[in-house]
Amino acid sequence: VEFEHCNLPPTIGANLKKAGYEAPTPVQMQMVPVGLSGRDVIASADTGSGKTVAFLLPVVVQALKHQRRVEGCPGGPTALVLTPTRELAIQIERQVKELVVGVANMRTALLVGGMPLPQQLHRLKRTNKLLYPQNVFALLSVPLKYPLMLISLIIIATPGRLLEILKQKAVQLDGVRVVVVDEADTMLKMGFQQQVLEVLEHVPDEHQTLLTSATIPKSTEQLAARLTQDPVRITI
Ligand code: AMP
Repeated sequence: VEFEHCNLPPTIGANLKKAGYEAPTPVQMQMVPVGLSGRDVIASADTGSGKTVAFLLPVVVQALKHQRRVEGCPGGPTALVLTPTRELAIQIERQVKELVVGVANMRTALLVGGMPLPQQLHRLKRTNKLLYPQNVFALLSVPLKYPLMLISLIIIATPGRLLEILKQKAVQLDGVRVVVVDEADTMLKMGFQQQVLEVLEHVPDEHQTLLTSATIPKSTEQLAARLTQDPVRITI
């Protein structure tokens, strides 16, 4: 499978080339088509395998596809990436941005521990404001002939910080249709299982789950079974 055969939006295909990702890595070859089909995935893939782009391509495409109006607001988070550490979250956001250059109606929010919460809330509020029509047209210079344009937000978060923000009702996950649980084994090692499950209670039942883990010991398998439905398993 080549990227060209995946029926990706042309802008995203061009961005892959620009990033120097000419040929897909083995995990991308397997995960991208399955992810795009909407199936749940459990992938055992380690850092360095290209797993981030492997889950991000389906995430970006699904996030765009599931844009919808939420409570009078032309958009909101449609995708959620949960990852155990702040460093991973920063890398993931960087890769999303690389993939969506030139895709107008796509934004990211990085919600991680180790950074001041008020600042993240402020930025999130600003993004929320951007999502309101009167400001969207002004700030994004969207021509009025596209008054129905929707904005899609991808949240990249560590579980603890996102829970804090959810408790403050600063973000709603009821439009989220695709969830990534990245490095599930590390999540368990760091004691985040309960927090991950609690975050997912805020996501509608009908969503796609893409789970990655370097290794899949029994504990990870049990968590994966709770988070996925009829998953396709990918082993590199
Ligand atoms: P990851 O396994 O997601 O941590 O990715 C490891 C590195 O591989 C990252 O620096 C990516 O930029 C790079 N990468 C991802 N996909 C490709 C690809 N198809 N071709 C070349 N490099 C890639």
